[in-house]
Amino acid sequence: MLSRPRPSIGESTSLSRTARGFATLMLAAAVAVSSSVSAFAQGVPVVRDAEIEALVRDYARPIFKAAGLANDGIDIVLVNDQSFNAFVTGRRLFINTGALVTAETPNEIIGVIAHEAGHIAGGHQQKLRDQLDRAKTMAIIATLLGAGAMVAGATTNSRGLAGAGMGVAAGGGEMAQRSILAYQRTEEITADRSAITYLNATGQSGMGMLKTFGRFQSALSLAGTQVDPYRISHPMPQERIANLEVLVKQSPFVNVVDPPALQQRHDMMRIKIAAYMQGQAAVARLMRKNPASLASRYGDAQQTYLFGNPGAALTKTAALIKEQPKNPYFQELRGDILMKANKPKDAADAYAKAVSLDPARSGLLLVSLGQALMAVGTPDSIQKAVTQLNNGVARERENADAYRFLAQAYGELGDIPAADLATAEGHYYAGDYKNAKIFAMRAQQKLKRGEPRWVRAQDIVNYTPSNKLK
Ligand SMILES: [Zn+2]
Repeated sequence: MLSRPRPSIGESTSLSRTARGFATLMLAAAVAVSSSVSAFAQGVPVVRDAEIEALVRDYARPIFKAAGLANDGIDIVLVNDQSFNAFVTGRRLFINTGALVTAETPNEIIGVIAHEAGHIAGGHQQKLRDQLDRAKTMAIIATLLGAGAMVAGATTNSRGLAGAGMGVAAGGGEMAQRSILAYQRTEEITADRSAITYLNATGQSGMGMLKTFGRFQSALSLAGTQVDPYRISHPMPQERIANLEVLVKQSPFVNVVDPPALQQRHDMMRIKIAAYMQGQAAVARLMRKNPASLASRYGDAQQTYLFGNPGAALTKTAALIKEQPKNPYFQELRGDILMKANKPKDAADAYAKAVSLDPARSGLLLVSLGQALMAVGTPDSIQKAVTQLNNGVARERENADAYRFLAQAYGELGDIPAADLATAEGHYYAGDYKNAKIFAMRAQQKLKRGEPRWVRAQDIVNYTPSNKLK
């Protein structure tokens, strides 16, 4: 299920304070920004989905390893935006759903990730990237994402593309803009070369990257009403594309295509984004090419779930499960449909299967399982919900939604200090520090001084922006 985390970005009053704080840091990093950064940032719609996050992580992992950037996991941040954008900070990869749905092959996205990894490995715009990497909560990520887009806007402005709809800071910051441009040119060439190195090291073609960049370079896209942020932040003069083409075609892997199984996952991802974010016409467009493919039937099942009736959606999903019994996301869809059909017990079984089949160990599936168990409503199932939700936050420390459900479950079991602490955690990771402290102190009143939960509550009480919890 594609879902938007709650509390939604922009709701919390403390977020705007955080946003202004980071806008200041951005200025310190010699980036031209306008005073509207915080307002801009609050509109950034982050979405979560176990399947898409796992796929993009699979695209990124070998590239990050080749670039010497892989230590442990890679955080994937999906942005619900139809324009094309992607950037990497440390081990966090931001990518627009628009980029994923546009790319016809995994290789096109992998190429962009390789180029971005080249920027990271080259230490490009290090100060900016350091700030981004320090961001721990979704709220702050969103803020910084807005600031990142403003960097793109600054570049637009000085390239005479002002009025492209980027909310560009008019005037001011000319020096900063010029210096960004000056070093950007060499950085782009360096990142292209690094990207080819990583693609070669992983036995992959650079054709996808070439295709994507070529598309940005073409005059056609200039005429469009929507200008992709990625294109603006990565200048693509003809000469750069020509040089890249030489490098790509020199590679012994130029003709390597994505493995069929990966292409299938990519097709399924595209149709899912279309179904949840774009509507029925977009799904129909993607299905037209091959209506009988697994991806098309997946899209059809999702549409039937979203716009049709649960019974028909269940039948279609059962056929998908029969074809790929080990696909965790077919089980997840089945769980979503059963929840909609008000059959939480069966939904819990489906989600439990999804969890057991998920090699990516997503916390999201555990949260869905926890919700279904809570909906069953017996003391036993609520106790199980607590266990699964705690497993979920163990995998995803910053999932504010999970804490909200956990608080509710503890509440129903009558464990009030645990409910208060979970509520405090939820507010904390949503960036609402004021309410986080209120609930942490409330929890402490009923906890034994010095016990682990009391200590954790104390950490939240003690929190100030300069000693942010790890
Ligand atoms: Zn670049």
